[in-house]
Amino acid sequence: MNNIIYNNKKSDIIETSKVESVAKYQDFLSNPHIHENLTFLQELGVISYIDSLNATIRDYQDLFSSVLSIFRHTVLDVLLETAVFHVTNRINPTSIVVLWKSFQNKDEITIKGYRHYKLMDTGLHIESITPFETFFKQYPKCMITYKDLLSQMNNLGAAEELCMVEPELIIPILSPSSLYGLILVGGKIGNIAYNDMELIFIEHFMYFVSLAIQNQLNYDHSLRDVKTGLYNYGFFMTRLTEELARMKRNEYVSSVIVIDVDFFKKFNDTYGHVAGDRVLEHIAALIKQGVRLEDVPARFGGEEFTVLLPDTDSQNAWGVAERLRKGIAGLVVPWEVPLASVTISLGIFTFDNSNDSIIEIVDRADKALYKSKERGRNCTTIWEPN
Ligand code: GH3
Ligand code: MG
Ligand code: MG
Repeated sequence: MNNIIYNNKKSDIIETSKVESVAKYQDFLSNPHIHENLTFLQELGVISYIDSLNATIRDYQDLFSSVLSIFRHTVLDVLLETAVFHVTNRINPTSIVVLWKSFQNKDEITIKGYRHYKLMDTGLHIESITPFETFFKQYPKCMITYKDLLSQMNNLGAAEELCMVEPELIIPILSPSSLYGLILVGGKIGNIAYNDMELIFIEHFMYFVSLAIQNQLNYDHSLRDVKTGLYNYGFFMTRLTEELARMKRNEYVSSVIVIDVDFFKKFNDTYGHVAGDRVLEHIAALIKQGVRLEDVPARFGGEEFTVLLPDTDSQNAWGVAERLRKGIAGLVVPWEVPLASVTISLGIFTFDNSNDSIIEIVDRADKALYKSKERGRNCTTIWEPN
């Protein structure tokens, strides 16, 4: 009789316990037939086996819901905070540091460190992740201890740079083609070693976090101009369309500034295209620093830039434009030989909700820019009818 119950129920129990909740399990235990045979089932080890399976299922359910919450976020900072929240809740590490390449083709690194759910200053400075890329492209696992990294990585100097944040575990943010960055997890608070379940959780969860970060960075990179890191033409036009739609619902004005570098062909002819590229990068950085976070600075193409200034009238747009113009005229770009300074010409168009066409908005700012060129360059013009 006992055996019949055992044999009939065994596979059902294991299968259902994978998907059913704790309540179902309690139902099962209170079943009179099971109850009668509980001692026997315990002796056979069936109950403890079910308990261990339930624990594993709960672990995977937790992992699954944590992973879902990570992929729900479309802003990298929020995604990281959510990941840190889940990891800290579960394993309590002394710190979590995430570093990644800010731009696709450059070695500029962004570093975010968290201690106990909160942002912290890491003091970490990484020149380049290229040495790690070389290592991780050949390393077969998705997690390594810092100790192993130190003993296995050829470029010891690069590995030693990380010691500043005392990492214990390192998870590469790695795609088949490149390394985006690294996740560094500190040791457990209280100097206790992580147990096997915790290590499995970190490895599995962080693997998904790494995928979510890659996803987010790919999206972010697709909106940006590769040379300067500013937004690209497509994103600028999308944001302008959104801004116009928002203005239809609210009464305010916004402005667009169009910028063109003066006599840039001559500059290239004199110093070469590579020096010209460097100047464009510096101009882009200055434009980015010179506008608010909610503004949209973009590279329109070639040596032309645009800035969308939401909720900004022409007088304030003029102030921004003139600040940029003066800043760029005073820009000193380090190069092999001293470079002549460059100037820019600017055009402004301020629009309200009576404007319908984004093409017309850009066209009018462009017309104002050409007025600046006619006026002798290195100046700003606000569009006026005729
Ligand atoms: P203007 O004052 O009338 O604008 O004169 P300009 O020489 O700047 O204008 P033109 O349209 O004749 O030439 C634009 C130049 O910008 C030509 C091109 O070599 C340069 N340029 C465009 N894109 C890039 C780029 O990505 N890198 C470099 N180095 N130069 C670029
Ligand atoms: Mg041009
Ligand atoms: Mg030009």
